[in-house]
Amino acid sequence: MAKHPQPRVWMLNYPLFFRAALYPSSYPTNISHFGIQCGVGWFPVIETLARDVESELRTLWREQFHRPDQIAALEYALATGRATFPVIPYCTEISQLDGELKVEFQHGSMCPADVAESIRTYIDNAVASSRYICESCGRSGKFRESYWRRVYCDDCLVPEAPLEQVLEPA
Ligand SMILES: [Zn+2]
Repeated sequence: MAKHPQPRVWMLNYPLFFRAALYPSSYPTNISHFGIQCGVGWFPVIETLARDVESELRTLWREQFHRPDQIAALEYALATGRATFPVIPYCTEISQLDGELKVEFQHGSMCPADVAESIRTYIDNAVASSRYICESCGRSGKFRESYWRRVYCDDCLVPEAPLEQVLEPA
């Protein structure tokens, strides 16, 4: 059986958002197999995102599933193919690409368009802020074309790198 990474303790606070990481055998996704694939400096950005989205998901969950008639409606929708996997959105991947946070979501068949739109906005805000936060330490940083196209602060640049790579273009 594949060995899955242990989710970080703070991820337990956002169990709907992170359910693919917390219950990996139910969700064959990148985050289930590899965990969060970016530097720890971005974890506060991810946690803010997770908190905002978790609150949307909990509202959705409460509205959709707290009454037996709604469970019946959901099950009827599943049985007749009007609802498909997943029922409510979950995060499938968190990684780094070209100096930006990358967050992938699978949207659920019972997720209304306005909730999907709010989630999109929260993700866009997290991605935008990651461009100015050092991926290594979480202080303010900037995009380094010559440092593997990642965002670092001056202190986190590797000192032994050739000087011309450290200098920013004018
Ligand atoms: Zn740094």
